[in-house]
Amino acid sequence: MSERTGSIKVSTENIFPVIRQWLYTDKDIYIREIVSNAADAITKLEHLRGMNEFESDKPEYRIDIEYDSELGQITVEDNGIGMTEDEIDEYINQIAYSGAMAFVEQYKDKGDANGGVIGHFGLGFYSSFMVSDKVRIDSLSWKDGAKPAFWVSEDGTSYTMGEGTKETRGTKITMTLNEESKAEITGYELRQALNKYCQFMPYPIYFRDVVQEQENLKRRQEQQAKDLEEKAKEREEKAKEREEKIAKGEDVSELEPLEDEDTEPDVLTIPEPTQLNDTNPLWLRDPKDITDDEYKSFYHKVFNDYREPLFWIHLNMDYPFRLKGILYFPQAEEHIDTLAGRIKVYYNQVFVSDDVKEIIPDYLFLLRGCIDSPDLPLNVSRSALQTDSQLKKLSSHIVRKVADKLVALAKDERETFEGYWDDISLFVRYGSLRDEKFFERVKPALLFKRYEGGYSSYDELKEKGVDKVYYTTDSDAQVVYNKRLSAAGKDIVVMPNEFDIPFMQLLQSKEEKPAFVRVDSEVEGDGGNTDRQEQLEKLMRKATGQEKLKVQVKALGPDGDLSILTEDEQARSMLDMRKMFQKMEGKSEEELDEMFPVERTLVINTDSSLITRLCLLDETSGKEDEATTLAAEIYDLARLAHGSLQGEDLVTFMKRSQEILGKIEL
Ligand code: ADP
Repeated sequence: MSERTGSIKVSTENIFPVIRQWLYTDKDIYIREIVSNAADAITKLEHLRGMNEFESDKPEYRIDIEYDSELGQITVEDNGIGMTEDEIDEYINQIAYSGAMAFVEQYKDKGDANGGVIGHFGLGFYSSFMVSDKVRIDSLSWKDGAKPAFWVSEDGTSYTMGEGTKETRGTKITMTLNEESKAEITGYELRQALNKYCQFMPYPIYFRDVVQEQENLKRRQEQQAKDLEEKAKEREEKAKEREEKIAKGEDVSELEPLEDEDTEPDVLTIPEPTQLNDTNPLWLRDPKDITDDEYKSFYHKVFNDYREPLFWIHLNMDYPFRLKGILYFPQAEEHIDTLAGRIKVYYNQVFVSDDVKEIIPDYLFLLRGCIDSPDLPLNVSRSALQTDSQLKKLSSHIVRKVADKLVALAKDERETFEGYWDDISLFVRYGSLRDEKFFERVKPALLFKRYEGGYSSYDELKEKGVDKVYYTTDSDAQVVYNKRLSAAGKDIVVMPNEFDIPFMQLLQSKEEKPAFVRVDSEVEGDGGNTDRQEQLEKLMRKATGQEKLKVQVKALGPDGDLSILTEDEQARSMLDMRKMFQKMEGKSEEELDEMFPVERTLVINTDSSLITRLCLLDETSGKEDEATTLAAEIYDLARLAHGSLQGEDLVTFMKRSQEILGKIEL
């Protein structure tokens, strides 16, 4: 048996420390790289079988992964194509090495661990040196008469190789962990990493934690011995009881019969590991053959969300690139901790990343799903430019599909779609704000929740030809305003969210009509008694101590509201936007109200008999105080309805009201 040693020509001093440091956040990808090589090796053999070069019935392909915490070793074994010694020399010493070098050369200066290369795909075999002090390959090629071969290296740059001892077809990679990794990697973590990266790989994967298995076996054996001992003791006691009874001449027929003595323990064995992965993920199957329950249970399993998804989109395209996947619309969430993990990207069933902002626009992360494309530009040799345009195409395809699905639902299943709207509206609005193309496409699916119940589409509102649509940010708090407008037959929609204001601004920047105005932004109705304008303004300013208070008279009918506070829509929405930015800086609501005071107008209904009395009172000498009290009360009532009567002012109002009530005569 001849052995040879060699050393790979190194152009960078030693790339592994570089890789190690720079992949720090993606430390577990070595397992993906090694296991996906194993899967590739099986695919290659299956390919040869398809071409009748490898003549065999379909073998039971499998990948076995073992973790031995005592030896500090991880092995990955496949029964794929295998390698001869020459092939190891070519593929591992030359091709793989230069691939890893090219990878590092290209990306080492890009620093940031998440930059550029999606999930650091394609680093390949040499990533095993990130965690290992020694890596050994044992392989037996599928070729007739091939001799087994081995390769071993401690640093990735110098190696020993020669004829090996492997007796079964395929390749086994043995990684002897370095001190640091030995301390860090546990069986549990390794299983987690395998679940993450290999959950949908195309061949059965089995994992065993051999030390853990031995411990479990020992525990079971001990438990069995204990059980047997207890049983024997119990039996002994029963036998004693029986004997005593017999000795006393008592009847023993009522007693349970004694069980046979059972001292031989069962032979306990380590159970076969269960398959870790699902080799035929749902996204690869034909949507025609998938039931709703299958879609749902896939969702629960993959995203750990016990709630039902609302609906989903099965993506399937062949041109200009291949892409398959499923995107789910989840029920609305109170709050979303992290967007990572919500959209998982795969490359031929191998997990790449779930944090791929390069492919998926951020608003799509409000959805959940799996996307698999063998045409993802992950290969280092392609130019960045090509990568960019490819990714853009991919992204715009997905966006288009999502918008089209929403529009189709809105058109064909309006009632169902309305049922979804509250859950998906954040997504649609945020998406519209983030992406003009998405907005233009999804427009026909835009719904508005009506204050009176039900929904109107944007198109329906436009078709009505109304100049204004009123919106309430809080149906209950703004109830006085809402009721008045509703009685007047106005369109009121419910817009309680932060994104609503910029969203409505977006709509208005595209179409002039209808304008969106908050329910408290103005009062429609004829002008009131202007003769009273000056008097009321003076009186109100005096009563409230606000020298700049704006007063407007209106004729709102004898039974109409007495007084109403309004805030100009344009001025207020601009302040709202500024507040929103400040809020992100951590300012509280109160601080913001103080920083950005809104100018309000007090609308007074001169048709009201109470207002006429107020004016008369004001003109009667000696009644000035009463007039001021009444004016202050009228102003506070308006503030109460507006929701802006708070703090000390509320206390003053309570006191004054009690005094006024006290004057009612029996
Ligand atoms: P890549 O997989 O991107 O080609 P790698 O560095 O991971 O790069 O592997 C280099 C080559 O080594 C592979 O292309 C393959 O020919 C060979 N190889 C690696 N692992 C195996 C394996 N388990 N079985 C057979 N060949 C393998």
